[in-house]
Formats: sequence, C-alpha cells, structure tokens
Amino acid sequence: MSSIVATWAFSGPGVVTAAGILANGGGALDAVEHGIHAVELDTRVTSAGYGGLPNALGRLQLDAALMTDDGRIGAVMALEGFRAAVPAARHVLDHSPHSILGGDGAAAFATGHGMVAATDTAQLLSPHAKKRYRQFRNGEISPGPHRDHATMPHTDTVGMIARDADGRLAAGCATSGMQFKAPGRVGDSPIVGAGLYADEAGAAVASGDGDQMLRFCIAFLVVEQMRGGEEVQLACEAAMRRVHAADPKCQAAVTGMSPDGGVGAAATHGGFRVVRWRAGTGAEDVQNEEARAVSETTWKHSCV
Ligand code: ASP
Repeated sequence: MSSIVATWAFSGPGVVTAAGILANGGGALDAVEHGIHAVELDTRVTSAGYGGLPNALGRLQLDAALMTDDGRIGAVMALEGFRAAVPAARHVLDHSPHSILGGDGAAAFATGHGMVAATDTAQLLSPHAKKRYRQFRNGEISPGPHRDHATMPHTDTVGMIARDADGRLAAGCATSGMQFKAPGRVGDSPIVGAGLYADEAGAAVASGDGDQMLRFCIAFLVVEQMRGGEEVQLACEAAMRRVHAADPKCQAAVTGMSPDGGVGAAATHGGFRVVRWRAGTGAEDVQNEEARAVSETTWKHSCV
C-alpha cells in the first residue's frame, strides 16, 4: 500500500503534494522529491530552502539528499545560489557518476542541468530571514539549532519517506542547516546513513542537532534494526534510546518506514511531530501526530 511519512508539522503541504503524485500512479522518488521541494519553497518554513535562515555571512547555504531502496543516491551540500536544493540532489542522482557534490561544484552542476541561480544573493533571503539575520548581526540572537518559533513551531529538517504502489521506497531530506552556521558547515541531513537511509529492509530520515547526531548514524541504525527483524516503531525508539543514553542533552528525532509501508517515529525529547498519509484516503487527508519520546523532557531551542 502506498504510504508517506515526513518530519515536523510544517511538512503537511509537502505530504499533500507527494500524496497527489502517488495517488496518480507516480513513483516514490518523484513523490519525495516534489514533496520536499514544496516545503523548500514555503517561506513559512525557516529551516529549508527559500525562507531558511542564512549562515554567519548572511548567505543561504542548503543541504539535500535523496536515496532509493535500490541504492541510488544524490546529495548536495553547502549549495549556494538557489532557493531549493532537492532538485539539485535529484540531478546528481540521475545524471552524475558521483553521489554527493558540494559547494561551487554542486552549484555548477545544478546550473549545468538547467537550474537558474539567483543573480543577487539577497534574492535568496525571505524578508523574515533578512530580519533574523540583522538581529543576529546586532547580537540579539546567537547561532545554534534553528528552532525559530517566531513563524512556526518546531522548524527543522524536512525529511520524507514514500512507498509507492509498486512497493518501492525512497527517502529524502533538505535543510538550510543550523541558523547562522559557520560557512561550509554540513550536518547529518545530506549524509547517507545519518540523515537518511533506504534499502530493501526499510527507510529512515532524521532531524535534530546534526553536529551531535552524526556519530550515531541514526537512519542506518533504524534500518539495520528492521533488517534484524525489529518492528519499525521499536527500531525508532531503540535508536533514540541509544542517542539519549550516550548524550542526554542531544535532541534527535527519527521516522522510519518498513517495506510494507508501516510507519514508526520517535525522539529523544517530547514535541517531535510527524505527518502521515496512506493510500485509500484523499491526498489532503494527512495525519499529524506527536511521536513517542524516550525522555520526559520536551524539545528545547538548543542542544547545547
Ligand atoms: N539535522 C539538521 C542539521 O543539523 C537540521 C535539523 O534537523 O535541525 O543540519
């Protein structure tokens, strides 16, 4: 059965887009790419694509990745000059002999495949992002995990997994990364095994403080437990328990999908939400649920 799950409530419109693609017979990879792209272009979302908060130099620097259950990968990191990164990740998946392209090379590759770069970097910042950057420069806000509750609660990486009618799985994610990060900083999101993973045993996508989460290879950890026979919800919870036991301050979240389209989700702290859709319901009929947390405390603005 076709199925979709995505991180955070703000991904709802993206899930509707992806559900429309699956409902019309489209494939999982197209659904995930276009679903994520819809979130990247939503200016209310301050943590991915246009609307995302910039790095310490005031430049929007994006990460995105896609992975299919038959092992195709495309990722871009520290991409500058564009309002969205997931279309560039798709071009890498489809057209590059490489799996990940970064920085200027990623930008040149995207341009070479028809993506139009902005002529002026200021065009890449939404009015809200410009205002927040001015506040950062004035010392009113500090760098750090970008939970910018001024516009929407729990803004974070958009991660999405889809299973299509043929039973294929695809996973993807996109983020503008930590707000006001050091130029060139890359978190877990575009790293296969960390921010996303998919193979015949299932798929997973993660969100949270990438600098802290990278060492746990969270997405791979979840899928690896499913390969060992664990149920998807319990696999997500086990991964979050491992993170929390090693570093109780680290805020991490993950959602996973089993090969039959079953969904699980868990977080180290309360407040993580996922958006779900299943075939047999209308494309607009998405469900927004809070995931189980392995600790009593709730998700805070900063991991440090
Ligand atoms: N994991 C992403 C990063 O660290 C952002 C997030 O999900 O909050 O870049």
